[in-house]
Amino acid sequence: MSRKVREGFVEVYGAEPEGVWAAPGRVNLIGEHTDYNDGFVMPLALPHTVHAAVSRRDDGVLRLHSADVPGAAYQLRLDELTPGADGGWAAYPSGVVWALREAGLPIGGADVQISSTVPTGAGLSSSAALEVATALALSELYELGLSRPWLARLCQRAENDFVGMPCGIMDQMASACCTEGHVLHLDTRDLTQRQVPFDLSAEGLRMLVVDTRVKHTLADGAYAGRRRACEAGARALEVAALRDVAHEELDAALARLDARLDDPEVRGCVRHIVTENRRVEETIALLDAGETRAVGAVLTAGHASLRDDFRVSCEELDLVVDTALAAGALGARMTGGGFGGSAIVLAEEAQTEKIAEAVTSAFEAGGHLVPQVFEAVPSAGARRL
Ligand code: ADP
Ligand code: MG
Repeated sequence: MSRKVREGFVEVYGAEPEGVWAAPGRVNLIGEHTDYNDGFVMPLALPHTVHAAVSRRDDGVLRLHSADVPGAAYQLRLDELTPGADGGWAAYPSGVVWALREAGLPIGGADVQISSTVPTGAGLSSSAALEVATALALSELYELGLSRPWLARLCQRAENDFVGMPCGIMDQMASACCTEGHVLHLDTRDLTQRQVPFDLSAEGLRMLVVDTRVKHTLADGAYAGRRRACEAGARALEVAALRDVAHEELDAALARLDARLDDPEVRGCVRHIVTENRRVEETIALLDAGETRAVGAVLTAGHASLRDDFRVSCEELDLVVDTALAAGALGARMTGGGFGGSAIVLAEEAQTEKIAEAVTSAFEAGGHLVPQVFEAVPSAGARRL
């Protein structure tokens, strides 16, 4: 892979790159849609990575090319980068350059070649991997000395303000900060983090990722809508963010909410966020106690909450979860923003083949696309190769 992106760079730009950087996609174990509510998340990095071969330029020009998208290289002037101007893939890396410059960091220009093994639009966060690979390359080449959390914040700013997608901080932090063999327990309010050992194979367990191949790209408006509903809930409850509603006070908070705002959508969102933060706590406690199998039920409860309260699942994601559970999985849930994308399945090692076959058959019987099934092995975060 690293060779491929290097050779691609030489082909497009006619010289060797100064270096090659890698940033992974992720799945989130638990803690979904909590990241823009100041809550808790638990992502792990996948072996699937975006590679960026990059060289500096000193003429204020940014050139961008991706081996995964047909077409010639984009050529842009740094001082003309405008938020919202370019709807294509180049908006992600140019947004990163824009965000670095907005933060007052000196970037003279760059040539960038991208090549990736992260499926796009599959809920595995190819967009954050693309941003983080680009940002880390520029940070190191221009010796900007950015900490990983700061780098992740600038990438989030690129996606929020330049691309126009109001995502939280989880994906960028996962790509920048995850480590091999661990899940990242992250407090998205202050970005404090803990690397939690996550070695399923030592316990005879496996985690499968099922990419339904239903693209979530058309759902950006729905994502923004959920975010607004969460903010409306926080305002009505007079808290800074839904993270501040304690699980013990959920019933009282919902009663207060009903009295002030008769909106079933907001009510469902509040319920999901408050119970989901609790599920992250439960998962951490179970992992710390070595009771990994019991995490399965928490995942399944998380899916029900995303399906019924937050309403971001879809037929195919529900089919993965229902089929996997019927075939003997310990737990399963959609992962990522929803409306398509991927689900994760926790299972005994001996059961995984049977479960994967059951899911594939169910998709065939239902007339859906053939899903992509692979194992989630907790892998390294962003790095120079
Ligand atoms: P996800 O992050 O879940 O994969 P998004 O819709 O957030 O889905 O991001 C996908 C977009 O990121 C793609 O449509 C494309 O614009 C960009 N992207 C991801 N990977 C690549 C790549 N290898 N080359 C070019 N653009 C990419
Ligand atoms: Mg994304």
